[in-house]
Amino acid sequence: MHTVSNIQSANTAQYINLEAQYGAHNYHPLPVVLNKGKGTQVWDVDNKVYFDFLSGYSAVNQGHCHPKIINSLIQQAQQLTLTSRAFYNNQLGNYEKFMCNLFGYDKLLPMNTGAEAVETAIKVARKWGSLVKRVKENEGIIIVCKQNFHGRTTTIVSFSSDEESKQDFGPFTPGFLSIPYNDLSALQAALQLPNIIGFLVEPIQGEAGVVVPNEGYLKNAKSYCTDANVLFIADEIQTGIGRTGKMLACDHENVKADILILGKALSGGTIPVSAILANDEVLGLIQPGQHGSTFGGNPLACAVALTAMQVILDENMIENAATMGNLFRTEIIALQNPFIKTVRGKGLLNAIEIEHENKDAAWTLCVELMHNGLLAKPTHGDKIRFAPPLVISENELRTAVSIISNSLSILN
Ligand code: PLP
Repeated sequence: MHTVSNIQSANTAQYINLEAQYGAHNYHPLPVVLNKGKGTQVWDVDNKVYFDFLSGYSAVNQGHCHPKIINSLIQQAQQLTLTSRAFYNNQLGNYEKFMCNLFGYDKLLPMNTGAEAVETAIKVARKWGSLVKRVKENEGIIIVCKQNFHGRTTTIVSFSSDEESKQDFGPFTPGFLSIPYNDLSALQAALQLPNIIGFLVEPIQGEAGVVVPNEGYLKNAKSYCTDANVLFIADEIQTGIGRTGKMLACDHENVKADILILGKALSGGTIPVSAILANDEVLGLIQPGQHGSTFGGNPLACAVALTAMQVILDENMIENAATMGNLFRTEIIALQNPFIKTVRGKGLLNAIEIEHENKDAAWTLCVELMHNGLLAKPTHGDKIRFAPPLVISENELRTAVSIISNSLSILN
């Protein structure tokens, strides 16, 4: 356990203690308690301001409390929030049409959290496997990648390679085959096996520490899947919606997934909204009673998501992510800091890998960054992800880099 004492005000400590006493300890947060956000910045309960370089794990791409998104939220909340899908509502169809046109698919299936959308993609792929590919019922296999992160449900952790996320949570769901990420030969070999129906992949592995595959990986993987009559399922929950400097990370290689999974920034970080998109051949297979969620497709979510997507397009956030991302990587490399082993990423999804004799160095650096006004979180011990809202200005980015530069001296 990392020490956090002597860095908390009494005010901060009071909130942390409440969570420590009454909440399950399923996270290990930095000792900062936030109560306000605007654009790229957040404020703590002592009114200290920080740059948010996590963006709610890329859910707040549009910036905190974007006025247009919040306005849609308020307007719709005063009108109608939930009907369930037992009835139609006047928002869902508009939103589905907008999304299908934008991403070029026939249909959308609305859900709430990212994990639910991944589960939905798995179910739909299995249905397709049985009904279209004619794999024997209950025998379809989905290929996944090692070091993946697709969420926390029992089925999803069944195919995680992170022991901590699965220990004592079994028995697990069968039907998955794990291969190394960014390994086309392994994929080709796996595609030869019987009963393969899908390949579920993150175009960049975010939680694993922003692992960017070689150029051509996605394009070739998609083409191998097509040749093998296997669905290419892209989990763009973290990489999508402008984060990597394109609308989708798959767009960097002009790859169109057979099933596209979106979440997080779909609502600009306001309420949980996720979705899968696919063509009729796949999503047309789902019949009434076979899948659903009380809150999936609720009018509040649809109104908010439509505005959140419009804002991304209207305010050039994708272009800004590309430009600011390039600048960020250039500036971090220019620091030539001996403790930064690698800098990698695309657009504004970046990470540094710390090399230091102290195995807690990345955590120590994040605590120092916090003191100096920038919030980021280590992932997998020695990696720190830097993913600010896509509205970051050049001035803000340069200030953030100087905070990072100054903070690194804590590792000397
Ligand atoms: N898939 C990816 C690639 C993610 O990064 C995440 C969350 O970090 C998820 C799925 C799960 O989303 P949620 O936490 O909304 O269930």
